[in-house]
Amino acid sequence: MAPLNIAIIGSGLSGLSLALALHQQNILCTIYESRPAPLNIGGAVMLSPNALKILDALGIYERVRSKGYNFETLEYKNGSGKLLEVYEFGSKEKYGYEALRIYRTVFIDELLAMLKEKDITIVFGKKFTKVVAETEKDVTWEFQDGSTQTADILVGADGIHSRVRRYLYPDLVPAFIGMAGVTAAVPTKQLKIPTGYHIPVTIMTPNGGFVIAPQEVDGSEVLIGKQKRMGEGFDRAGWDRYMADKDALVEFLQEGASGFPEMVQNAVSHIPHDKINVWPFYAVPTLENWASEKRRVIILGDAAHAIPPSAGQGINQAFEDVYMFALLLGQAEKVEMQDALSFWQDYRQKRITKVMWLNKQTDLRRMPKEAQSRGRLSKRLS
Ligand SMILES: Cc1cc2nc3c(=O)[nH]c(=O)nc-3n(C[C@H](O)[C@H](O)[C@H](O)COP(=O)(O)OP(=O)(O)OC[C@H]3O[C@@H](n4cnc5c(N)ncnc54)[C@H](O)[C@@H]3O)c2cc1C
Repeated sequence: MAPLNIAIIGSGLSGLSLALALHQQNILCTIYESRPAPLNIGGAVMLSPNALKILDALGIYERVRSKGYNFETLEYKNGSGKLLEVYEFGSKEKYGYEALRIYRTVFIDELLAMLKEKDITIVFGKKFTKVVAETEKDVTWEFQDGSTQTADILVGADGIHSRVRRYLYPDLVPAFIGMAGVTAAVPTKQLKIPTGYHIPVTIMTPNGGFVIAPQEVDGSEVLIGKQKRMGEGFDRAGWDRYMADKDALVEFLQEGASGFPEMVQNAVSHIPHDKINVWPFYAVPTLENWASEKRRVIILGDAAHAIPPSAGQGINQAFEDVYMFALLLGQAEKVEMQDALSFWQDYRQKRITKVMWLNKQTDLRRMPKEAQSRGRLSKRLS
């Protein structure tokens, strides 16, 4: 059998890590990215042991560990500082890894450096538009510039609004789940956190939750944020307008601060406009197939199962997709691919379903009391 040749659409964290995983299995691949450079949506991501174990196996972990903030637990506290719950995000002793919070751009740069060392090609400025033909043996697709390309397998790692997914689900549009995160980054020292007070923390009051999570290697900066329930989403232009109104966003972050401990009031006392972000939460419904009938077109990562960021598992789950998929392809000569891919999707979807449940619990916990009961009610009604 001739060596496999895989095309990956998208150079986000899924696409870049997939290229490294395939390379480890001695499988040829090329990444095609629509932008002139990798997408950087800003902010930091939290990586948990399930993903770090994979990144370790791919030789990535050791290169990024010292470039982010390592920690083990997230705490939930009430306004008086009473510990309500400890959420274990990592543990060296139990799982072999602490959790890592790392700037997305730092992480992506390191992955790009690894791809370069391994001579894996990324073609920037190549926007996938549509699959032209799929046979039992290969797939041909078109780019926006009119050129076409053929490979044994085409992988859509092109994110929540995936164009590749349209080949499998032409009418699917990701759904806004009625919630957005409003966040900002401020210097940790601005908060005047009492000595011995553990961060990351979510401080819970009847007015909802307020998140404080360190970033930068030395924890010198914190992400602060709240979740906001919103009836309707917007179109892209609407979100742009919403995000452009920085005064209103600062106001939202400051709203009800007097009901929180002093460090929250300090946190929101000065918020630079260029450090504010809004993250509307969209989700892709459970999909029956992550592969086309002939198994030459596959989707993974956010393209297959975008998960809102509440429980911080979106990219962690994508790394699980990627690693398992590459392992299966590495065995392509020995296993029946049809069965292997069905097993892959079934296994992965069960994990995603568990994470979605965890997300729902986290979202409910972070909302004001009154919205929590509304959420429970709508859950009972749905
Ligand atoms: C605020 C926020 C915080 C988050 N925090 C965490 C966290 O702490 N932990 C965690 O695990 N996850 C987190 N996530 C989720 C995580 O960011 C996503 O799951 C992850 O980025 C998905 O990666 P991806 O590579 O699948 O998709 P993307 O990052 O969206 O990458 C897709 C790539 O494909 C390219 N592309 C798109 N269309 C085309 C096309 N037609 N042709 C060619 N290229 C194309 C895009 O330009 C992009 O580079 C968070 C998300 C948000 C919004």
